[in-house]
Amino acid sequence: QVKEKGRDAIEFFNEEMADKVSRQLVMEGDLHRALEDEQFSLFYQPKVDVNSGKIVGAEALLRWHHPEKGNVSPLEFIPVLETSGLILQVGQWVVEEACRALENWSERGLWSAGMQLSINISPRQFRRERFAADVIRTLDRYRLPKGVLDMEITEGVVIQQVDEAIDTITTLTERGVSFSLDDFGTGYSSISYLKRLPVATLKIDKSFVRDIIVDRNDRVLVETIVTMGRLLDLELVAEGVEQAEQLEILRSYGCHSYQGFYFSPAVEGDKFIELLLSNRAKDR
Ligand code: C2E
Ligand code: MG
Ligand code: MG
Ligand code: MG
Repeated sequence: QVKEKGRDAIEFFNEEMADKVSRQLVMEGDLHRALEDEQFSLFYQPKVDVNSGKIVGAEALLRWHHPEKGNVSPLEFIPVLETSGLILQVGQWVVEEACRALENWSERGLWSAGMQLSINISPRQFRRERFAADVIRTLDRYRLPKGVLDMEITEGVVIQQVDEAIDTITTLTERGVSFSLDDFGTGYSSISYLKRLPVATLKIDKSFVRDIIVDRNDRVLVETIVTMGRLLDLELVAEGVEQAEQLEILRSYGCHSYQGFYFSPAVEGDKFIELLLSNRAKDR
């Protein structure tokens, strides 16, 4: 009896796993075509100054429009890009596309000095030997000045090879690329990485911001991260701000800037240009 049940459970488990594997294989096949068929795009989410309410930068977020399934969430397809190695090509496309956007916004006078566009870099992409050299070549090709591009990394990029990671960051920092530690606080040893990595910005993960109004523990954690970050001369960005009250709390703690649906979700290029235009109008 027990044996029977056990076997059923194993078969069920195997079936489920096989199902998952086959779905991933199908997705991988689709992703192979996605780049040449131009199914990827970058959306841009404004990064806003907590005090002035003005746009100080943006985060580029990858979007995949599948010909039949429509938009697929990055949470589903980024892991498949990672395991298949396709992230290397797609990641380089993201760098290119971000540089193209920066060139375009600068030419139109929409990208003032001090504004930064952040792109997300996956661990596998970051650890590739030629990563820094490829990025620098692309920045040079678009003649982008120092200080306009930022890279969001997670502690996943430094696991095991901290010295190599520091070298890569240093090389790129010399070419004017800055680094942000993304999803700060969610990893295993965020603080110890902070000690070793030469990053300029901490991004407070949205899981801490979500319940900040009702959860005293989250408030304490966020206030502590902000205080620590400020003492270390880091820039602090809060993710996932959806309500005025959350913003108010972050402001009272001294957080510098934020992203979130409260101001705007990530939007397509043309829509982002409209946001930049209305941002500029605030100066007049
Ligand atoms: P992330 O870098 O932490 O990006 C923040 C995520 O929070 C984005 O999800 C964004 O749309 C979402 N978000 C922004 N504001 C709010 C808000 O107010 N409330 C809530 N609930 N969510 C908000 P998205 O675009 O689905 O991206 C998910 C993850 O996929 C990103 O997390 C990042 O790790 C990865 N990703 C996205 N684009 C790229 C890329 O070009 N390359 C790599 N390697 N990873 C990427
Ligand atoms: Mg990010
Ligand atoms: Mg993040
Ligand atoms: Mg996050």
